[in-house]
Amino acid sequence: HAKKYGRNTFKLYSSDIEGLAHSDLRMENLLHQALENKEFVLYYQPQYHANTNKIHGIEALIRWNNPELGMVPPDVFIPIAEETGAIVQIGEWVIEEACRQNAEWQSKGFPATPIAVNLSLRQFYQADLQEKIKAILKRTGLGPRCLMLEITETIAMQEDIAAEILRDLKALGVRIAMDDFGTGYSSLRYLQNFSIDHIKIDKAFTDKLSTKEGRAIIATIISLGHHLDMTVVAEGVETPYQVHQLRELGCDVFQGYYYSRPLPPEDLIEQLFGK
Ligand code: C2E
Ligand code: MG
Ligand code: MG
Ligand code: MG
Repeated sequence: HAKKYGRNTFKLYSSDIEGLAHSDLRMENLLHQALENKEFVLYYQPQYHANTNKIHGIEALIRWNNPELGMVPPDVFIPIAEETGAIVQIGEWVIEEACRQNAEWQSKGFPATPIAVNLSLRQFYQADLQEKIKAILKRTGLGPRCLMLEITETIAMQEDIAAEILRDLKALGVRIAMDDFGTGYSSLRYLQNFSIDHIKIDKAFTDKLSTKEGRAIIATIISLGHHLDMTVVAEGVETPYQVHQLRELGCDVFQGYYYSRPLPPEDLIEQLFGK
């Protein structure tokens, strides 16, 4: 909108930048206290089998509920937390809370359903990530097969670091999903080296399903996944058209607003097992 303001452009522009920097700094400060103040919550989004419509898994997605800022979405604060390093502690809280919640659901008699947790590269830079996760599984009593770790291509690129940690966790029975596949620096080698269980088609591709190119890309990811014995999950499924098309293409699992938005734990249980 700079042009509209003519001569005052520079002033407006620079104050915009100051405002941005200021709010980032401010967020950074508020972020410091957030864990201690218990301001983080996990929302849960169900994933359904394409053919049976039965529940397949649940993805845990963090939200930051700050008294001053309101509900801050992860796309806004995760990059800041990654930059400051706060993501290490926050990420650990996410794993523990997701495992605790899942174990609690099971102890209440709900069918065992794997919980998926998103990881940041920064978490892999700790030498003992696998030990931390093992300790969390032990503390919460969650079976390793009920934990799914979502990694990105950025993580996979750090092959030396990621391979060892993931090998240890796989040996325990923990499962691995490649998130946002094809949106970063993809290398087929990652799929080969990391014994990935799930491959997730990003919403950006699901959105393009009605185009010839979009359809071709999705068909190729599904075929690739199946040839490697992986389960293929489509993200961002919003319409009956997409459900139909993805089913035709042989996609295994669906996740998206068409089925459910990410929900607070009580609402998820209601949606899955309530009337
Ligand atoms: P993601 O892991 O790819 O998660 C999928 C995102 O798509 C979620 O956004 C989800 O709410 C949204 N989504 C799902 N279905 C639909 C749909 O049908 N339509 C639309 N428009 N959106 C849909 P959310 O919860 O805002 O999370 C955004 C990203 O933040 C996640 O992308 C993930 O990369 C990151 N994130 C979330 N929680 C965590 C966490 O605990 N740790 C880390 N490191 N990153 C996280
Ligand atoms: Mg994810
Ligand atoms: Mg994703
Ligand atoms: Mg994504």
